[in-house]
Amino acid sequence: MIKIKTLEEIELMRESALIVSKTLGTIAKEIKPGVTTLQLDKIAEEHIRDQGAVPGFLGLYDFPNTLCMSPNEQVVHGFPNNDPLQEGDIISVDCGALKNGFYGDHAYTFEVGEVAEETKKLLQITKESLYLGIREFRVGNRVGDVGFAIQNYTEKHGYGVVRELVGHGLGRKMHEDPEMPNYGRRGRGKKFKEGMVVAIEPMINMGTHKINHLKDGWTIKTADLKPSAHFEHDVAIVNGKPELLSTFKYIYDVLGIVSNEEDEFRM
Ligand code: MG
Ligand code: MG
Repeated sequence: MIKIKTLEEIELMRESALIVSKTLGTIAKEIKPGVTTLQLDKIAEEHIRDQGAVPGFLGLYDFPNTLCMSPNEQVVHGFPNNDPLQEGDIISVDCGALKNGFYGDHAYTFEVGEVAEETKKLLQITKESLYLGIREFRVGNRVGDVGFAIQNYTEKHGYGVVRELVGHGLGRKMHEDPEMPNYGRRGRGKKFKEGMVVAIEPMINMGTHKINHLKDGWTIKTADLKPSAHFEHDVAIVNGKPELLSTFKYIYDVLGIVSNEEDEFRM
């Protein structure tokens, strides 16, 4: 059942989303060759707790850490560990926070030092597909419209859209209805309504869409071991239109990126 949020609840969700956004900004400062994902995980946990929130993933379905850290060919759900990041890696960082009973949940794929041009392009196209999907999240449209927009754009570039993992409704639970696949057909699926809040999160592979689950029960890798990218935003429908609750602003401030990509989704 889809849980519609009041404007007051949406404001609380914005607070949770912004805690995650700021945490990712803090992580952005530290991502460089030599740092381990476990070090980054500690920084993120402290940062979340300092803001009066608790890590959203820690203990959720028994996940043992604050951040999901998925380098290179790992799609999502990787564990932080003691392996140092290396020049040319990409690292997908997914972060959740819980405050006032509501979850924030968003993700960004970072470059470590200088990465290959074709990898940069994968990140750029995946991020662009996120905004194309968000644009379709409006009253009158359906789940399939978002998935179609993401799939159509990324497959045109020859990329693979992961099927087994999807975006989701967000609220008092990390994963609520509806499921939000990154593939689909226009005009199909559940209809969007005022007050819905979802996490839209394309997981896009440079090569095949096929994935493998590792024996650790969590980590997911691309079947061809080519890189995979993951970007995620939290979005509400307000006045019929998509409004972003999360932001990449704090990341961009650190990385010196100037962007107006979020402007159309702000009140
Ligand atoms: Mg996430
Ligand atoms: Mg999510």
